[in-house]
Amino acid sequence: EEFTTMSLSDDITRALNSLGYDQPTDVQKQVIPLVLTKKDVTVKAQTGSGKTGAFAIPICESVDWDENKPQALVLTPTRELATQVKDEITNIGRFKRVKATAIYGKEPFARQKSELKQKSHVVVGTPGRVFDHIEKGTLSLEKVAFLVIDEADQMLNMGFIDQVEAIIKKIPAERTTMLFSATLPNDVQTLSNQYMKDPVQIEI
Ligand code: AMP
Repeated sequence: EEFTTMSLSDDITRALNSLGYDQPTDVQKQVIPLVLTKKDVTVKAQTGSGKTGAFAIPICESVDWDENKPQALVLTPTRELATQVKDEITNIGRFKRVKATAIYGKEPFARQKSELKQKSHVVVGTPGRVFDHIEKGTLSLEKVAFLVIDEADQMLNMGFIDQVEAIIKKIPAERTTMLFSATLPNDVQTLSNQYMKDPVQIEI
């Protein structure tokens, strides 16, 4: 499968060209067509495989620019990864003017709060701070149709399981959920079994 057979819009295709993404990577070939048809996926893939693009491309393709409330939420274990993911979404969505916002701990809450008041199509963040924004009413989940749990094994190793579960429970049930992890230990499998609808399992 090539990007050209994935029926992506011109805005997204142009962005992929300008980034030098000539061919989809293996994980992108497998994940993008499934997510565009709203299938849940549990993906075993390492950093460097192009996993960020695998979720960022179908999310950017699916964003409705006119909707002001967030349509996708990406949970990451660290702020460094949150920033990288936000940048990748911004790059892939640039001709479509997709707005991504990163929220994480150890940065003033108020600044993030005012950023979230502006249009944010995609919110990327670490579980603790995402949960704070949900509790304080500064992050709306009403329109979230895509949930990504990125580096799930790291997130659980860092002790984020309770916050991750609390967040998932607040997201509308009618959604597409993607879980990415370098390894699939029992706690990650349990998370996948509990909160995903008949996920397609992909191993890279
Ligand atoms: P990731 O596994 O998401 O951390 O991506 C690893 C690197 O691959 C990043 O620097 C991306 O910019 C790059 N990349 C992702 N998809 C493609 C692609 N289809 N073609 C070329 N490079 C890519």
